[in-house]
Amino acid sequence: MSNQNSIYQDALNRLRQMGEDAGTSPEVVDSLMHAETVVTASLPVRMDDGAMRYFTGYRCHYNSVLGPTKGGIRFHPQVNQQEVQALALWMTIKCAIAGLPYGGAKGGVEVDPKNLSPMELERLSRAYVRAMADFIGPDIDIPAPDVYTNARIMGWMMDEYKTIKRQHAPAVITGKPISLGGSLGRDEATGRGAYLCIREMAARLGWVPAEIRVAIQGLGNAGYHVARLLQKDGYRIVAISDSKGGIYSKDGFDIESIWRQKIKVRQVQAVYCEHTVCELVEHQKISNTELLELDVDLLIPAALEGVITTENAPNIKAMHIAEVANGPILCEAENILLEQGKLILPDVLTNAGGVIVSYFEWVQNRSGYSWTLEEIRARLEEIIIKAFNEVWHTSMHEERSLRSAAYTMALRRIGDAVAAHGTREYFNNGQ
Ligand code: NAD
Repeated sequence: MSNQNSIYQDALNRLRQMGEDAGTSPEVVDSLMHAETVVTASLPVRMDDGAMRYFTGYRCHYNSVLGPTKGGIRFHPQVNQQEVQALALWMTIKCAIAGLPYGGAKGGVEVDPKNLSPMELERLSRAYVRAMADFIGPDIDIPAPDVYTNARIMGWMMDEYKTIKRQHAPAVITGKPISLGGSLGRDEATGRGAYLCIREMAARLGWVPAEIRVAIQGLGNAGYHVARLLQKDGYRIVAISDSKGGIYSKDGFDIESIWRQKIKVRQVQAVYCEHTVCELVEHQKISNTELLELDVDLLIPAALEGVITTENAPNIKAMHIAEVANGPILCEAENILLEQGKLILPDVLTNAGGVIVSYFEWVQNRSGYSWTLEEIRARLEEIIIKAFNEVWHTSMHEERSLRSAAYTMALRRIGDAVAAHGTREYFNNGQ
């Protein structure tokens, strides 16, 4: 992840390029070249040994023209303001593509949560909400889980918000435990949305799942569910990884057994094949860099941004890439891949399932009525397939990349909202 500091600049460069492709008014593109507001806060946390430590937390409202802002909270040692702003910009685009009544936001804390005890993690989560309490809210900005945050952390955060505001407000945050107002299907939503996009692409390309070799970087919430659903359809998952490294087998892995072992021992490489059915499968250890460059049919980066750069792009062999992570391919690297004829399912569409079901959670919390899992899956499918079809159609008919088609849709929707506030032409009496 060498390009962390320039990731926001990269996102802005891409936005300019996409705006030009789409013929978007400069007024609209300009409105997206700056974050509306960014809060940085020092978060004091009492550690288990009695010492006080201070962590840096961020929250960015990127653009709210379409509604209250929405975006996850990340706990990771590499979190910084540039990264948070890039992720918040992509959330703005993503919510517009899915047609949700939201703008984009993101938050994070610069911390390695693996070094905290469960009680320290709870205190940090609550400290984050104390710092941000006036900056979030059901009609202002609604956080959700992201890398190294989960339902339990969302539950603590909701509880802290309730204590501060002295009112029950479950719609302040999504991705909560079901027992605290979370939605059925939220845990699998990002992976399921990605799976549905891949399924639609496969139908158009005439793929036979058993012949398709898949490599997945990052077996976390998003990566696990997409892997599980693809395997169920008969795809061969030949490589997977986590932050410690990866494993490869040409015959493919059984994802459920790896996941069970990973949860116990917390490491894909260390656990694989210990007392499981996987003992029957020969495999080799690989690095995350090697995983990206494997000879496979479908590559799924599902960990962090900026992993495919101009340096390794020429070595990528997969002809199809589904971006489940946010921003795994840098702008210039994408141009190299497109020149080689590769097909890229862009993050702003592929991983939108998470925010779509977060939206359902927010709607359920506000109406006080819960939907069934079947209803949630059906509504998710309806929204994401509609978005996929529009993106695919624009891409094929206008001979543009899927990302360019996706940004066109988003910029049109955002542009309509900007215009509804009045344009230069309107205020100049058409001159
Ligand atoms: P997670 O914390 O559940 O899992 C992250 C996974 O990535 C873990 O397996 C971790 O070991 C691995 N990882 C971390 N650093 C790595 C590295 N350097 N190389 C390889 N693997 C590494 O996180 P998640 O929620 O699954 O998020 C993964 C990606 O999906 C992120 O880019 C996130 O922004 C994006 N995303 C998540 C959601 C969601 O609802 N959770 C929604 C949209 C997008």
